[in-house]
Amino acid sequence: MSARILDGNQIASAIRREVSAEAKTLAASGLRPGLAVVLVGRNPASEIYVRGKVKSSEEVGLYSEKHTPTESSTTEQLLALVNDLNRRDEIDGILIQLPLPPHVDSKRVLLAVDPAKDVDGFHPMNVGFLSTQRPGLVPCTPNGVMEILRRSDIEIAGKEAVVVGRSDIVGKPMAMLLLNANATVTVCHSKTHDLPAVCRRADILVAAIGRAGMITRDFVKLGATVIDVGMNKVTDRAEFDKYFKGNERREAAFARNGSTLIGDVDPAVVEVAGAFTPVPGGVGPLTIAMLMSNTVRAAKLRRGTAVAV
Ligand code: NAP
Repeated sequence: MSARILDGNQIASAIRREVSAEAKTLAASGLRPGLAVVLVGRNPASEIYVRGKVKSSEEVGLYSEKHTPTESSTTEQLLALVNDLNRRDEIDGILIQLPLPPHVDSKRVLLAVDPAKDVDGFHPMNVGFLSTQRPGLVPCTPNGVMEILRRSDIEIAGKEAVVVGRSDIVGKPMAMLLLNANATVTVCHSKTHDLPAVCRRADILVAAIGRAGMITRDFVKLGATVIDVGMNKVTDRAEFDKYFKGNERREAAFARNGSTLIGDVDPAVVEVAGAFTPVPGGVGPLTIAMLMSNTVRAAKLRRGTAVAV
């Protein structure tokens, strides 16, 4: 059996085109949705993510600005910046790139973001809106997974969905979105007994764990849809060989970069799954596309323009 590949790049491009068209329509009525990204300090991975977010905003026609307070910024200084962004009408979305430096009270800073501008969907108010099915802002990665499922015509209602991982930013909102779409949802975590057996119940299996290749073929029911949210860097040659030995494209990339990206799902799962998201090129591209979409959504919600729930 050969599983269908769910191409995240293609779906993300389609979403970006739609956001771009919507941004044009809004611009014609004098509204240019604006995103402010706050990057504290000089974390190299965060710098790459932020660059991608700003570039993508420009490509789809949103206004964007980047704030780069120094590593030594205090919680109070960051709160002052957030309050300033909250007050500015031309800013519709505020994104605080995580992690913040350890001396900063991250929860306080995130809580200070106006829920109407919380394009990450992390604010308790938006968490509440999601769980009570009211219009709000939904975390980008799980929302992107729903787009993959819907745009690939994968049936959700009435299906068994298993989510492995219960983080506030992926696992929990993922479970809530699947429940809202009428799946029967099980959420697993590090204390779950007999994880493979629970996972084998799934018609839709979502892995958001942060452990390279942990979901092997014996976790997967024949024909299931497997969504791999995990992004893990493999730098060890033996681990590389375990998953990718003989894969010429991967070999070349590994020789060039000294690392390769693997999800939480063992690539051999392709032999039993009905459909799956590759890593890279699956869920990853959706996260930024959904950030763009959330910024336009925030601009409309703030002005009382109708949006779909
Ligand atoms: P996280 O906060 O570390 O949460 C991991 C979850 O996995 C926890 O709920 C944990 O259970 C569970 N877990 C860990 N080991 C387990 C095990 N052996 N068996 C069962 N469950 C286990 O991670 P996250 O932020 O949700 O991210 C998860 C993965 O997604 C990471 O690889 C991350 O890089 C990736 N990610 C990708 C994107 C994207 O754009 N593609 C975006 C965000 C995250 P406990 O709660 O019991 O500890």
